[in-house]
Amino acid sequence: MDDMNGILELMTINDCNEETFFSQLHHTLLLFVLEEVCQKLKSTPAMKDSVRSEFRRTKNHTKLCIRLVYDICGTKLTESDGLLLSSWIQAFFRKSDIRKPVPLSEKARILSLQDYKCACCNQPLKIEDSHYDHIIPWDYVGDELTDNYQMLCSYCNEHKSNNIHYLLKRQIVKKNTGKE
Ligand SMILES: [Zn+2]
Repeated sequence: MDDMNGILELMTINDCNEETFFSQLHHTLLLFVLEEVCQKLKSTPAMKDSVRSEFRRTKNHTKLCIRLVYDICGTKLTESDGLLLSSWIQAFFRKSDIRKPVPLSEKARILSLQDYKCACCNQPLKIEDSHYDHIIPWDYVGDELTDNYQMLCSYCNEHKSNNIHYLLKRQIVKKNTGKE
């Protein structure tokens, strides 16, 4: 329990919201798994085709996803994480090779939901300086998921890229050091 107390203390003295932190940690762990699965499928086209048709045939996507993740990563998933990851993996199969153009009104809507602050570093952000970002990288899920968008400042946009632990890092590293 010492580690647990240590992390809670670290959160408290850095004004991190415990719930946000743990939910971000959970999300990041699942993204590590997604990244591993997508990279495996990208590098093995025959496997990608066979998994794609398995997803088409089966009615139980969660069970298939849990088995697939265990086979590829050796990771055991809970039912609820299996359900979530199966929706991400199916997005990976559906995704187009071309990015969807996003209207300015949609960007403005998301920025207003974020209270005109960067979703990562919380710095005040104007629409003209903001960048439209896929929370789960576009490379993996394309434009197939709703609620997968946020507006970032130039710095966070540039440094996040496909770096899936960036959001977690931003919970604790709050200033821009210019290095990544
Ligand atoms: Zn930022």
